[in-house]
Amino acid sequence: MTSSVREKTAAAAPIPFDNSYARLPQHFHAAAVPTPVSEPWLIKFNRPLAIELGLDADALEREGAAIFSGNAIPAGAEPLGMAYAGHQFGQFVPLLGDGRAILIGEVIDIHGRRRDIQLKGAGKTPYSRRGDGRAALGPVLREYIVSEAMFALGIPATRALAAVVTGEPVYRERVLPGGVITRVAASHIRVGTFQFLAARGDTEGLKVLSDHVIARHYPGIETQERPYLTLLQAVIERQASLIARWLCAGFIHGVMNTDNCAISGETIDFGPCAFLDAYDPAKVFSSIDRGGRYAYGRQPAIGQWNMARLAETLLPLLDPEPSEAVNLANDAIGNYGALFQTHWLTGMKAKIGLHTEEDGDLDLVQGLLSAMHRNETDFTLTFRKLCDAAEGSAKDGPLRDLFAGTADIDAWLAAWRERTGREPLSDAQTAAVMRAVNPAIIPRNHRIEQAIRAAEDDGDFSLFEALNDALARPYEDRPGFAAYAAPPAPSEEVLKTFCGT
Ligand code: AMP
Ligand code: MG
Repeated sequence: MTSSVREKTAAAAPIPFDNSYARLPQHFHAAAVPTPVSEPWLIKFNRPLAIELGLDADALEREGAAIFSGNAIPAGAEPLGMAYAGHQFGQFVPLLGDGRAILIGEVIDIHGRRRDIQLKGAGKTPYSRRGDGRAALGPVLREYIVSEAMFALGIPATRALAAVVTGEPVYRERVLPGGVITRVAASHIRVGTFQFLAARGDTEGLKVLSDHVIARHYPGIETQERPYLTLLQAVIERQASLIARWLCAGFIHGVMNTDNCAISGETIDFGPCAFLDAYDPAKVFSSIDRGGRYAYGRQPAIGQWNMARLAETLLPLLDPEPSEAVNLANDAIGNYGALFQTHWLTGMKAKIGLHTEEDGDLDLVQGLLSAMHRNETDFTLTFRKLCDAAEGSAKDGPLRDLFAGTADIDAWLAAWRERTGREPLSDAQTAAVMRAVNPAIIPRNHRIEQAIRAAEDDGDFSLFEALNDALARPYEDRPGFAAYAAPPAPSEEVLKTFCGT
């Protein structure tokens, strides 16, 4: 630890750090001390998460502006930037690294799980290249809202512990207020972390990283006959499951570069992410995704592409015989499609109230999606209104109203009723089970945009607060929150999202 870090420890509240990444070989990371900001102000502190992490929530809330801006470094922190490479829109960059994020350390949470605590936007690191190491307030608020919404939806994702405004401007296309988000992750190890070592020809380092990942995210694998192959298979399985969850929720990550693909299976770095309003598999929101590489419906295929890049890095560990290593890797990658399809179909079937198996189930799911696409119906509302329809055809009205051509949906509803008639649950039970997987409220783009606008333009965080409240219980119809379930009016529609780097 540098002396400047030590000097700053006095004012800080205790976080019981238990750092492991800092113990890994030196070239895996670089010391990076947050750059102080002039006038930090705590916008939001996630008290329940702090308690789950085993932190002193009272002390952190009191000193949050200093700690979560990086102005005060808590005792025991070993701030560092992690090294990683990555394929960005298909182009390989051998060294990216944390250019605007600083890992301050790890804690063991109250469930015994190791979690990273990272300040994103806290100033330059040795990996900043030409960047300023800063984040604008807008993307900080967006990440806060979506991280916590993903948690409430039950989709694995990094969490948000705090958000601050720095009191300093950041210079993008225009001058914007600066912010810092404190991000919590199972780890920040990415496919790109493996690629960084592979690109250096560092097989020993790959083994060290793999062993670290196994101990941390996939315990038990170390005793397998081929632990590194089993690791690859396990990461593939989690990625297939994760992307199926995204599709079932209408989520578009936006920038699925290999450096934004976490080995733990959490959703990470969803800068220009968005949720679908109208269903369209080709939908893209991200301003930088001009070719639609990361469109909603392309995400499963990109997930497999990313896993193939991971597999390449692991080849030297899979088998001493190169051709055998390639065969093993190909088999593992080849399984991805079936794994994804199983997770996706199970998830989509649950959305329409099916839990037993019959031959025509896939067609039934696809029939609904096709009707939705033809009629441009709102993804979230369609499934939520279908929960009402599950209570009986007298309640079909709100669902049918979403479809311009009701013939489409009427034919589908008839087939669906015939099929659900062979499920064991009562109508009321089916509706309740469906409501637990089909959210009423998702972080709609126009709501996020409105919250950001009010915060940036007027320093008004009330919309941000209200939106977080609305998203905290997405599967309930709560009085007072009905407006958050509504799709945007044409004038409110958000056509593009930005990652704000
Ligand atoms: P991202 O698009 O956020 O996934 O970032 C891609 C790469 O660019 C990572 O290596 C980031 O650390 C780096 N980066 C993004 N924004 C900045 C910034 N403002 N300053 C320095 N590095 C940045
Ligand atoms: Mg990234």
